[in-house]
Amino acid sequence: MSKLNKVAIFPGSFDPFTNGHEDIVLRGLQIFDRIVIAFGHNSNKTRYFDLDMMLEKVRANFIHLPNIEVIIFDELTALLAKRYKANFLLRGLRNTTDFEYENSISQVNRYLNDGLETVFLITSPKYAAISSSIIREVHKYGGDVSSFIPYRL
Ligand code: ADP
Repeated sequence: MSKLNKVAIFPGSFDPFTNGHEDIVLRGLQIFDRIVIAFGHNSNKTRYFDLDMMLEKVRANFIHLPNIEVIIFDELTALLAKRYKANFLLRGLRNTTDFEYENSISQVNRYLNDGLETVFLITSPKYAAISSSIIREVHKYGGDVSSFIPYRL
């Protein structure tokens, strides 16, 4: 496989996209030629932060990096990867809870799309405690979340 073929999908809810997510993307660029940040859109699930607003913030955040694409998807991640000719999924791991969950979804994704490899990057210690759910909670009660996200809300 030529190096130019190394495309990874970084799927997630990104509600909101955090410094921890940004760190995974930037480190992922040392491994992959192109990374597609894919916002999972599940119409049955309500988001806290507006999807289109968040998409625009993340697009603007990476505007200087032409090998980063930001999209919304509403299908199985394994099939999205096929459509994008991506052989890799990129995910971050913070702790054993992440591991338990990631372990099973990566098995299912490989079952659905033979050869699809999930590559895990261990969180950088300074971002290990950052989670979208905690940011939502802080924001809901009027707290300042600016030091957890790479853009202005
Ligand atoms: P999902 O709802 O699919 O779990 P998230 O938006 O919560 O989506 O997370 C997307 C990916 O980013 C997951 O692999 C998650 O483990 C990882 N991630 C989330 N926060 C961090 C962080 N602070 N450091 C490293 N990885 C993270």
